[in-house]
Parts: sequence; C-alpha cells; structure tokens
Amino acid sequence: MTDVRQNALTIDVEDYFQVAALAEAVSRDEWPTMEYRVEANTERLLELFSERDVKATFFTLGWVAERSPGLVRKIQQAGHEIASHGYSHQLVYTQTPEVFREETHK
Ligand SMILES: [Zn+2]
Repeated sequence: MTDVRQNALTIDVEDYFQVAALAEAVSRDEWPTMEYRVEANTERLLELFSERDVKATFFTLGWVAERSPGLVRKIQQAGHEIASHGYSHQLVYTQTPEVFREETHK
C-alpha cells in the first residue's frame, strides 16, 4: 500500500494595501502611491521555499503582474505554479459578468 501525503500551499501575490479589509481606507486610485512591498516579500518567500524544497501556487494579482513581470518570471522559473487572483482584487460576487470578463481578460 502506498502512503501518499500531499500538502497544498497557496500564496496571494498582492500588496498589503490591496486586501479587502483595507478597501475602504485605500482606494484603487491610491495604489500607485503606496509603498510597494510585494516584490521584496515574495522574493523572501521564494528564498525560504527554495531552502526547504517547497512548491506552491502563487495566485497573482494582474495589477502586480503588470508592474512586476520579472517577479512572475522568478516565481515560474523557481518551479511554482502561477494562478490568477483577478486583476484589481474585486470580490468576484460583487462583479457584473462584464466586469468579471474584463478582469479575467486583463
Ligand atoms: Zn487577495
């Protein structure tokens, strides 16, 4: 009998000011003016995962991928899975079908 154990690890590649809890405090128009920490934080995670031979799925915000294509390449080159976390972090159940389509396409 084979004992197969598997763990799943997912990461949201987004910045601290993009979380839903801060949506009222920081508008999307303000995002470009906020301190951008996601690159350094994600690179630190990549180092830690590399040291321990851990793979994860990185749900990446389109807004971040657009600003940091090199970061997305580093995640992919390290052997992790890239997944979509939407474009602008809008809760999917608040989107119209048109907005969902546009967010997904972007
Ligand atoms: Zn998120």
